[in-house]
Formats: sequence, C-alpha cells, structure tokens
Amino acid sequence: MSKIVVVGVDGATLDLMESWMDEGKLPTFAKIREQGVYGNLRSTTPYYSAPAWVSIVTGCHPGKHGIYDFFRTDTFSKKIVNSRYRKVQAIWSILTATGNKSIVVNVPGTYPPEKIKGVMITGLLTPSPESEFTYPKNVKKDLIKGKLGEYELEQVAVDDIPKNLTARYAPEKFAKQINNTTTSHAKVTMNLMKDHEWDFTMVVFRGTDDAQHLLWGRKDLILSCYKKADDYIGKMIEQYPDAIFIIVSDHGFGKPQKYFYVNNALYNAGYLKAVSDPRHSLGTFMAMMFDKMSRLIFHLVPLKKLVRSPIGRKFILSGGSSSNIDFSHTKAFYHSVCSRGIRINLKEKYKQGIVDKKEYEKIREELIGFLKNVKDPETGKTIVKNIYRWEEIYGKNAVNDPLDIIFDLEEEYSAQELLQPPEGVQYAFQSKGEPMSILSTPGFYDWMGDHRPNGILFMYGKNVKSNRRIDASVVDIVPTILSAMDVPIPNNIDGKIIEDAFIKKPKIKKIDSYEKKNGHLTEAELDKIKKLKFKI
Ligand SMILES: [Zn+2]
Repeated sequence: MSKIVVVGVDGATLDLMESWMDEGKLPTFAKIREQGVYGNLRSTTPYYSAPAWVSIVTGCHPGKHGIYDFFRTDTFSKKIVNSRYRKVQAIWSILTATGNKSIVVNVPGTYPPEKIKGVMITGLLTPSPESEFTYPKNVKKDLIKGKLGEYELEQVAVDDIPKNLTARYAPEKFAKQINNTTTSHAKVTMNLMKDHEWDFTMVVFRGTDDAQHLLWGRKDLILSCYKKADDYIGKMIEQYPDAIFIIVSDHGFGKPQKYFYVNNALYNAGYLKAVSDPRHSLGTFMAMMFDKMSRLIFHLVPLKKLVRSPIGRKFILSGGSSSNIDFSHTKAFYHSVCSRGIRINLKEKYKQGIVDKKEYEKIREELIGFLKNVKDPETGKTIVKNIYRWEEIYGKNAVNDPLDIIFDLEEEYSAQELLQPPEGVQYAFQSKGEPMSILSTPGFYDWMGDHRPNGILFMYGKNVKSNRRIDASVVDIVPTILSAMDVPIPNNIDGKIIEDAFIKKPKIKKIDSYEKKNGHLTEAELDKIKKLKFKI
C-alpha cells in the first residue's frame, strides 16, 4: 500500500503553467509532466473554492455534499459554511474508519476540525485564531509556541480589504506576504510529516489564488507563487520518494474583460428593490469615496490590525450589497459574488418572503428568460453561457437548499454582487434616474483575475505511468486515492478511479458505507448547527 500526499495549489491553471514548465521555471511540475501523469481537473458548478475543495475531499458533487458557496444558501444573512454543514464524510473520516492515519493542513472548509486518526489544522473559512482550529487541541499550542514552525492563519473575508489595497499599492510586498504564508504552511506540514506516523497527507497552498485574483497583470509575481509551491512539492518528493503524489487545483484562472453586475440588472428590471436608491445612497457614496481615498488609507491606517479587531470584523461581515436590499419587496436577488446563483424570495421559506409558491415556476421561467437575454451592448452578444434550474444540475434530492437558478457566463465575463453604479463616484452626482450599468470593465471592487472551470491534475510516484496526459474531474480524486491505498470505496461516491494513471490497475473494492447514519446529519445535529453563531 502506498502512502499518499495530496498538495492543493489553489486556482492553479495549465494556461499559465505550460509555458513556465517549458522554460524551466517550474522544475518539479515539469518533471512530473514528463515522468508522471498530468492534465486538466474539471471543477464543480459553480467553479469556486468552497464547493470544489469539498468535492475534491469527498468525491461527491455539490448536490450531495451540500456546499454550494462560501455562504450558506438556506438563509439571506451572510453565514459562512462549515464542516458540520457538509452532508457526506470526507476522505479522512473514511481513512480513520479503516485504521489509516492522516495529516490535513489548510484545506478550505474544514473548520471546525473533525476527530480523526491523525492531525488536522483547518483552512480557509476558519473564523479566527481564537477558535479551536486544530485536532488534537494541543497542536494549536505547538503552533503558537512555534514548536512546529510559525503558522499564518488566513482570515476569511476580514483580510480582504488590506489584501486588496496591498496588492494595489505595494504588489511586491503583497506577493512576499502570501509567499511567507505558503512557506509557513509547507514547513508546518513537513514538520508534522516528520513527527507523526501517516498514511495520507494533504496540504493546500492558497497563495496562487490570491495572487491571480489581485495581481493578474503581474505575471512575474504570480510566477513567484507557483515557484514557491513547486519548490516545496520538490522537497516533499525528495523526502518521501516511495509515496504517490497527487497535485490538484480546485479551478483554473483567467482574465475577465467585463463584470456582470447581476443585482444591478435585477434592480433595473424590478425584481430587486433597494432600501435606498443605490445610485445615490450613502452606502454607495461611502464605497466610492473609499475607492478615491484608498491610497491615502493604505498609507496612513494600520488596516490589518483594524480589520482583525473584534469591531473591525463585525463591521466587515455585516457589509456587502445585501445590506441595501429591501427583502420585503424583493422577488429575486443574486446570492453572493461566488454563488453564480439566484435566490427566489419564497413566502413559505423566508420571514420576509413575498413570492407565493404558486408563482414560483412562473417567476423562475421569467428570470431564466431574462438572464438568457442579457446582452453586451458593445458586441450585441448574450453573456450567459449555461443556465440551470437547481434540480437539473444538482438532482432533485440535492441537500442544503441550493439556489433556485444557477448559471455560468461566457469566458470573458465574471459576476459581481454589488448593488451600485460601477462607474465610480462621479456617477452618483450625474445620474438623472436612468438605469444602472450592468456591465463594466474591472474596477476598484472587481478582481483582476477570476476563475475558470479547469484546474490541474499532476500525479507522480510508485505505480504511476509516465508521460501521460489525462483529464479528470474533482470528484475522481477520492476514489483514486482510496483504490491506491486498497481501501474500499463507499457506494455514495460520484467520482471514478483514474485507472489510466496507474501501471498496474488497482483493484476496485466497494462498500455500502462506513457510517451507521450513512454520512448524513441527524435532525438534532442540523438544529444545533442552525443555532450555532460564529463570533466573527
Ligand atoms: Zn480556489
């Protein structure tokens, strides 16, 4: 049985890596391309980190694991998803049930940590350094004391403003910061691998995602983040030559030419109402002034400290466009920047719901027609590529209340949730009531780079073929690992073994399930989660 090491390189894309590998800038990846297996790894719909990483570690599509976005889709307030909200078990629980030991570091969506045979340090979406983010608990003490090495905990949403401004006004400093974070995660992981027995190790490096979102124009700095990952993967291979290495990303990356302001479109069409006119509201004005003064703020204010303070955290997490949506008069709205989905405000589901159940299908069809017809005025072409009713993409047994309509956009477009004129502060004074723009070139509040559906897959090691191009899906990773470890695969898993990657094909063993309650939470547990309030 082989030991397995999975390294996640968030948002890594072959579109950038191929030429860097050719030029010798990513020696480890180039070596695996030649002596192992590589190709595209198809992401989830939507192709964002929360659903995609959870699919990578469960082998199930979002309809089964129930994570569709960073935020819960069953409520209007911005509640961040967590590992208890996931409805199927992750690979480390299967390995625990079969007596295998795991080391899991910085995998998005793992907070709160699960009790496993081994060690877990939770990743993106961990509320704060004060929370219990390790299992066993004493690992946190070792991190604080620096026994395991310095550890940088990514702070969800809270760090976005300082990150954005640092990337904008001090890009080299920003790249250095995220590379230091990757170094800390790599070192702690390698120290854990040295100190503990393990059969499976997984670590996710997130710097590539940040760099590509915020520094798309600076390929030299983006390359430095890929190099950092390449370097540590190389070191791990050197140290564990008998293991099988699987390097994956949750989605790819590219440059959006324009942003689709979905809530602006719904507002113009009357589906969404605002508490105060978003063209002239105080919130819009403040947001726009922030844009104008951002350079000054960056240089004068200790932002990182400010946003991480309890008041700062509260302020940031209460914001967003939803604060200006008048839900008691809104029929439908775009859920969040990464959701690629629209929520219909059903009376029977929500306190402020206004859409009657009888009207649901009619409104849904209307909205689908509306979105299909949104055109770029400059080209006259439609911008929505695919559009689905939730049951068409997630199945009618989908858990955790998926959004009502899911869509993806043509490659050159990305979506924005903000309800405000994209043009900037001057628009607030000039506007005479004409509709708000719904398309805009990337501005202050938009990312320079955004996701694409194809991530990466690299496999290397014992029994892995060489020089082979194979494309697979995020749900194929778990069954492939389990078969390589000779562990039976639960029947509920959607993915299939990437058989073609192996010289000697692993035997397929199946099992009904590893849990008495077949991986789903009980009603009592769900109730408990509903009442769970994060201190963020
Ligand atoms: Zn990601």
